[in-house]
Amino acid sequence: MDRYVLSLDIGGTHTRIGLVDERYGLTDFEIVKTKEIQKAGNTVDNFVAVLRAYWKEHGAGCTIAAISAGFPSTIDRERRTVLSTPNISGFNNIAIAERLEQEFSVPAYIETDVNMLLLFDMMENHIPEEGITCGIYFGTGLGNAVAVDGKLLVGKTGAATELGHIPVRGIDGVCGCGNSSCIELIASGYHLQDLCEERFPDTEIGQIFTKHGSSPEILRFIDDLSLAAATEINILDPNYIIIGGGLTSMPNFPFAQLEADIYRYARKPFPAEELSYIYSRQGQENGVIGAGILGFRKLKEIEKRGDDTI
Ligand SMILES: [Zn+2]
Repeated sequence: MDRYVLSLDIGGTHTRIGLVDERYGLTDFEIVKTKEIQKAGNTVDNFVAVLRAYWKEHGAGCTIAAISAGFPSTIDRERRTVLSTPNISGFNNIAIAERLEQEFSVPAYIETDVNMLLLFDMMENHIPEEGITCGIYFGTGLGNAVAVDGKLLVGKTGAATELGHIPVRGIDGVCGCGNSSCIELIASGYHLQDLCEERFPDTEIGQIFTKHGSSPEILRFIDDLSLAAATEINILDPNYIIIGGGLTSMPNFPFAQLEADIYRYARKPFPAEELSYIYSRQGQENGVIGAGILGFRKLKEIEKRGDDTI
Protein backbone atom coordinates (compact mmCIF):
# COMPACT_ATOMS: atom_id res chain seq x y z
CA MET A 1 0.00 0.00 0.00
CA ASP A 2 1.28 3.46 -0.86
CA ARG A 3 2.71 5.42 2.00
CA TYR A 4 1.91 9.08 2.62
CA VAL A 5 2.69 11.91 4.98
CA LEU A 6 -0.35 13.93 6.00
CA SER A 7 1.11 17.38 5.41
CA LEU A 8 -0.05 20.82 6.50
CA ASP A 9 0.85 24.44 5.94
CA ILE A 10 -0.86 26.59 8.56
CA GLY A 11 -1.17 30.26 7.71
CA GLY A 12 -2.82 33.28 9.29
CA THR A 13 -5.66 33.18 6.73
CA HIS A 14 -5.61 29.72 5.15
CA THR A 15 -4.57 26.27 6.26
CA ARG A 16 -3.59 23.90 3.46
CA ILE A 17 -3.70 20.13 3.82
CA GLY A 18 -2.67 17.28 1.55
CA LEU A 19 -1.21 13.80 1.27
CA VAL A 20 2.39 13.69 0.03
CA ASP A 21 3.86 10.46 -1.35
CA GLU A 22 7.49 9.30 -1.29
CA ARG A 23 8.20 10.92 -4.65
CA TYR A 24 6.80 14.17 -3.24
CA GLY A 25 3.65 14.04 -5.32
CA LEU A 26 0.64 15.75 -3.73
CA THR A 27 -2.94 14.43 -3.69
CA ASP A 28 -6.19 15.25 -1.91
CA PHE A 29 -5.14 18.89 -1.52
CA GLU A 30 -7.58 21.07 0.44
CA ILE A 31 -7.62 24.61 1.73
CA VAL A 32 -9.59 25.49 4.85
CA LYS A 33 -10.00 28.87 6.49
CA THR A 34 -7.79 29.14 9.56
CA LYS A 35 -10.62 30.94 11.37
CA GLU A 36 -12.57 27.65 11.16
CA ILE A 37 -9.88 26.26 13.45
CA GLN A 38 -10.06 29.29 15.71
CA LYS A 39 -13.85 29.35 16.07
CA ALA A 40 -15.46 28.75 19.45
CA GLY A 41 -13.68 26.41 21.79
CA ASN A 42 -10.09 25.32 22.07
CA THR A 43 -7.96 26.01 18.97
CA VAL A 44 -5.89 22.85 19.41
CA ASP A 45 -8.99 20.65 19.85
CA ASN A 46 -10.46 22.21 16.70
CA PHE A 47 -7.20 21.60 14.85
CA VAL A 48 -7.26 17.93 15.87
CA ALA A 49 -10.91 17.69 14.75
CA VAL A 50 -10.07 19.13 11.30
CA LEU A 51 -7.27 16.57 10.93
CA ARG A 52 -9.48 13.72 12.10
CA ALA A 53 -12.17 14.61 9.57
CA TYR A 54 -9.56 14.87 6.80
CA TRP A 55 -8.00 11.54 7.78
CA LYS A 56 -11.43 9.86 7.79
CA GLU A 57 -12.25 11.19 4.34
CA HIS A 58 -8.89 10.67 2.59
CA GLY A 59 -7.02 8.10 4.67
CA ALA A 60 -8.96 5.00 3.67
CA GLY A 61 -7.08 2.67 1.33
CA CYS A 62 -3.66 4.17 1.99
CA THR A 63 -1.09 4.24 4.78
CA ILE A 64 -0.53 7.54 6.53
CA ALA A 65 2.90 7.07 8.07
CA ALA A 66 3.35 10.47 9.72
CA ILE A 67 1.93 13.95 10.20
CA SER A 68 4.09 16.95 9.30
CA ALA A 69 2.98 20.54 9.85
CA GLY A 70 4.47 23.96 9.12
CA PHE A 71 3.52 26.74 11.53
CA PRO A 72 3.97 30.52 11.18
CA SER A 73 5.55 30.41 14.60
CA THR A 74 8.66 30.13 16.66
CA ILE A 75 9.24 26.52 17.66
CA ASP A 76 11.45 24.94 20.33
CA ARG A 77 14.81 23.49 19.35
CA GLU A 78 13.52 19.90 19.61
CA ARG A 79 10.70 20.76 17.19
CA ARG A 80 7.97 19.48 19.53
CA THR A 81 6.37 22.66 20.91
CA VAL A 82 4.97 25.72 19.16
CA LEU A 83 6.20 28.63 21.30
CA SER A 84 4.68 31.76 19.81
CA THR A 85 2.28 32.38 16.92
CA PRO A 86 1.52 36.12 16.65
CA ASN A 87 -1.05 35.78 13.84
CA ILE A 88 -3.16 32.87 15.14
CA SER A 89 -4.65 32.84 18.63
CA GLY A 90 -4.40 29.64 20.65
CA PHE A 91 -1.06 28.38 19.34
CA ASN A 92 1.28 29.66 22.04
CA ASN A 93 3.27 27.22 24.18
CA ILE A 94 1.48 24.15 22.81
CA ALA A 95 3.20 20.73 22.80
CA ILE A 96 1.49 20.01 19.51
CA ALA A 97 3.71 17.16 18.25
CA GLU A 98 3.03 15.10 21.37
CA ARG A 99 -0.70 15.81 21.18
CA LEU A 100 -0.88 14.73 17.52
CA GLU A 101 1.06 11.54 18.25
CA GLN A 102 -1.36 10.69 21.08
CA GLU A 103 -4.38 11.37 18.88
CA PHE A 104 -3.24 9.64 15.68
CA SER A 105 -0.60 7.07 16.79
CA VAL A 106 1.90 8.07 14.09
CA PRO A 107 5.03 10.24 14.39
CA ALA A 108 4.28 13.98 14.18
CA TYR A 109 6.77 16.59 13.03
CA ILE A 110 6.54 20.36 13.19
CA GLU A 111 8.72 23.02 11.60
CA THR A 112 8.45 26.69 10.74
CA ASP A 113 6.45 27.41 7.59
CA VAL A 114 9.44 29.06 5.92
CA ASN A 115 11.67 26.06 6.60
CA MET A 116 9.06 23.91 4.82
CA LEU A 117 9.13 26.37 1.90
CA LEU A 118 12.91 26.19 1.76
CA LEU A 119 12.80 22.37 1.59
CA PHE A 120 10.32 22.64 -1.29
CA ASP A 121 12.35 25.26 -3.15
CA MET A 122 15.58 23.27 -2.76
CA MET A 123 13.89 20.20 -4.23
CA GLU A 124 12.14 22.13 -6.99
CA ASN A 125 15.35 23.89 -8.06
CA HIS A 126 17.60 20.83 -7.70
CA ILE A 127 19.81 22.59 -5.17
CA PRO A 128 22.45 20.22 -3.77
CA GLU A 129 22.75 19.71 -0.04
CA GLU A 130 26.38 20.84 0.16
CA GLY A 131 26.87 24.52 0.91
CA ILE A 132 24.70 27.27 2.35
CA THR A 133 21.25 28.00 0.95
CA CYS A 134 19.23 31.02 2.09
CA GLY A 135 15.52 31.47 1.50
CA ILE A 136 14.30 35.04 1.87
CA TYR A 137 10.53 35.30 1.63
CA PHE A 138 8.93 38.71 1.25
CA GLY A 139 5.32 38.04 2.20
CA THR A 140 2.92 39.68 4.65
CA GLY A 141 5.89 39.38 7.02
CA LEU A 142 9.56 38.85 6.24
CA GLY A 143 10.32 35.13 6.32
CA ASN A 144 13.74 33.53 6.35
CA ALA A 145 15.21 30.04 6.36
CA VAL A 146 18.78 28.77 6.03
CA ALA A 147 20.08 25.29 5.26
CA VAL A 148 23.74 24.39 5.84
CA ASP A 149 24.86 21.20 4.08
CA GLY A 150 21.22 20.13 3.87
CA LYS A 151 20.44 20.75 7.55
CA LEU A 152 17.99 23.45 8.55
CA LEU A 153 19.61 26.02 10.81
CA VAL A 154 17.59 26.11 14.06
CA GLY A 155 19.99 27.63 16.61
CA LYS A 156 20.46 27.08 20.33
CA THR A 157 16.81 27.66 21.28
CA GLY A 158 15.16 27.04 17.92
CA ALA A 159 14.85 30.73 17.06
CA ALA A 160 17.56 31.09 14.40
CA THR A 161 17.06 32.93 11.09
CA GLU A 162 14.62 35.55 12.39
CA LEU A 163 15.79 38.00 9.74
CA GLY A 164 12.63 40.09 10.10
CA HIS A 165 13.68 41.02 13.61
CA ILE A 166 17.07 42.52 12.97
CA PRO A 167 17.00 45.93 14.63
CA VAL A 168 17.13 49.13 12.62
CA ARG A 169 17.21 52.63 14.08
CA GLY A 170 14.47 55.16 13.42
CA ILE A 171 11.45 52.88 12.87
CA ASP A 172 8.03 53.71 14.34
CA GLY A 173 5.73 51.09 15.76
CA VAL A 174 5.85 47.82 17.63
CA CYS A 175 6.52 44.49 15.93
CA GLY A 176 4.37 41.36 16.43
CA CYS A 177 7.26 40.01 18.52
CA GLY A 178 6.90 42.87 21.02
CA ASN A 179 10.07 44.76 20.09
CA SER A 180 10.22 48.06 18.32
CA SER A 181 12.93 48.65 15.68
CA CYS A 182 12.40 45.32 13.83
CA ILE A 183 13.08 45.63 10.11
CA GLU A 184 9.88 43.67 9.41
CA LEU A 185 8.01 46.84 10.36
CA ILE A 186 9.26 48.44 7.13
CA ALA A 187 10.21 45.44 4.94
CA SER A 188 6.97 43.48 4.72
CA GLY A 189 3.63 43.24 2.98
CA TYR A 190 1.97 44.75 6.05
CA HIS A 191 4.01 47.88 5.55
CA LEU A 192 3.35 47.96 1.81
CA GLN A 193 -0.37 47.80 2.56
CA ASP A 194 -0.09 50.78 4.94
CA LEU A 195 2.02 52.67 2.41
CA CYS A 196 -0.59 52.05 -0.27
CA GLU A 197 -3.46 53.26 1.92
CA GLU A 198 -1.61 56.37 3.11
CA ARG A 199 0.19 57.51 -0.01
CA PHE A 200 -1.73 55.96 -2.90
CA PRO A 201 -5.33 55.63 -1.65
CA ASP A 202 -6.71 55.41 -5.20
CA THR A 203 -4.50 52.47 -6.15
CA GLU A 204 -5.34 48.86 -5.43
CA ILE A 205 -2.48 47.12 -3.66
CA GLY A 206 -2.08 44.67 -6.57
CA GLN A 207 -1.31 47.57 -8.92
CA ILE A 208 1.14 49.39 -6.69
CA PHE A 209 4.34 48.31 -8.47
CA THR A 210 2.77 48.83 -11.89
CA LYS A 211 1.53 52.34 -11.17
CA HIS A 212 4.04 53.65 -8.64
CA GLY A 213 7.14 51.47 -9.08
CA SER A 214 9.38 54.49 -9.65
CA SER A 215 7.93 56.68 -6.88
CA PRO A 216 10.32 57.61 -4.02
CA GLU A 217 8.13 55.68 -1.55
CA ILE A 218 8.31 52.41 -3.47
CA LEU A 219 12.00 52.82 -4.28
CA ARG A 220 12.59 53.29 -0.56
CA PHE A 221 10.49 50.21 0.19
CA ILE A 222 12.53 48.03 -2.19
CA ASP A 223 15.70 49.47 -0.67
CA ASP A 224 14.48 48.38 2.77
CA LEU A 225 13.83 44.83 1.50
CA SER A 226 17.34 44.76 0.10
CA LEU A 227 18.80 45.98 3.41
CA ALA A 228 17.47 42.85 5.10
CA ALA A 229 18.60 40.55 2.29
CA ALA A 230 22.09 42.08 2.08
CA THR A 231 22.55 41.75 5.85
CA GLU A 232 22.09 37.99 5.62
CA ILE A 233 24.15 37.70 2.45
CA ASN A 234 27.06 39.59 4.01
CA ILE A 235 27.02 37.33 7.08
CA LEU A 236 26.61 33.97 5.35
CA ASP A 237 28.06 34.39 1.82
CA PRO A 238 25.54 31.78 0.66
CA ASN A 239 26.03 29.39 -2.25
CA TYR A 240 22.37 29.76 -3.22
CA ILE A 241 19.98 32.64 -2.60
CA ILE A 242 16.30 31.88 -3.04
CA ILE A 243 13.96 34.86 -3.09
CA GLY A 244 10.22 34.35 -2.85
CA GLY A 245 7.06 35.30 -1.00
CA GLY A 246 3.80 36.86 -2.08
CA LEU A 247 5.24 40.30 -2.84
CA THR A 248 7.51 38.89 -5.55
CA SER A 249 4.53 37.44 -7.40
CA MET A 250 2.71 40.78 -7.57
CA PRO A 251 2.55 42.31 -11.08
CA ASN A 252 5.72 44.18 -12.04
CA PHE A 253 7.61 43.50 -8.83
CA PRO A 254 10.90 45.35 -9.46
CA PHE A 255 13.39 42.47 -9.41
CA ALA A 256 16.13 44.45 -11.15
CA GLN A 257 15.84 47.26 -8.62
CA LEU A 258 15.99 44.79 -5.73
CA GLU A 259 19.10 43.14 -7.17
CA ALA A 260 20.78 46.52 -7.75
CA ASP A 261 20.03 47.58 -4.17
CA ILE A 262 21.33 44.31 -2.69
CA TYR A 263 24.50 44.70 -4.76
CA ARG A 264 24.98 48.22 -3.39
CA TYR A 265 24.80 46.98 0.22
CA ALA A 266 26.80 43.80 -0.33
CA ARG A 267 30.48 43.68 0.65
CA LYS A 268 32.86 44.20 -2.28
CA PRO A 269 34.37 42.35 -3.96
CA PHE A 270 32.70 39.31 -2.37
CA PRO A 271 30.01 38.22 -1.90
CA ALA A 272 28.88 41.16 -4.10
CA GLU A 273 30.52 40.07 -7.36
CA GLU A 274 29.21 36.50 -7.21
CA LEU A 275 25.55 37.15 -6.40
CA SER A 276 22.96 35.12 -8.26
CA TYR A 277 19.35 34.50 -7.39
CA ILE A 278 16.80 31.77 -7.71
CA TYR A 279 13.27 33.12 -7.72
CA SER A 280 10.80 30.83 -6.02
CA ARG A 281 7.77 29.77 -8.05
CA GLN A 282 4.70 30.74 -6.05
CA GLY A 283 2.16 28.04 -5.33
CA GLN A 284 -0.48 27.29 -2.71
CA GLU A 285 0.90 23.76 -2.42
CA ASN A 286 4.60 24.56 -1.88
CA GLY A 287 4.55 24.58 1.93
CA VAL A 288 2.48 21.38 2.03
CA ILE A 289 4.91 19.54 -0.24
CA GLY A 290 7.80 20.91 1.85
CA ALA A 291 6.12 19.46 4.95
CA GLY A 292 5.91 16.11 3.15
CA ILE A 293 9.63 16.28 2.31
CA LEU A 294 10.43 16.89 5.99
CA GLY A 295 8.10 14.06 7.06
CA PHE A 296 9.75 11.48 4.80
CA ARG A 297 13.21 12.73 5.75
CA LYS A 298 12.41 12.14 9.42
CA LEU A 299 10.79 8.77 8.75
CA LYS A 300 13.90 7.66 6.90
CA GLU A 301 16.08 8.78 9.81
CA ILE A 302 13.99 6.58 12.13
CA GLU A 303 14.25 3.64 9.72
CA LYS A 304 18.00 4.10 9.42
CA ARG A 305 18.33 3.92 13.21
CA GLY A 306 16.16 0.81 13.20
CA ASP A 307 14.09 2.49 15.86
CA ASP A 308 10.34 2.10 15.60
CA THR A 309 9.41 4.11 18.67
CA ILE A 310 7.72 7.39 17.96
ZN1 LIG B 1 10.15 41.76 15.78
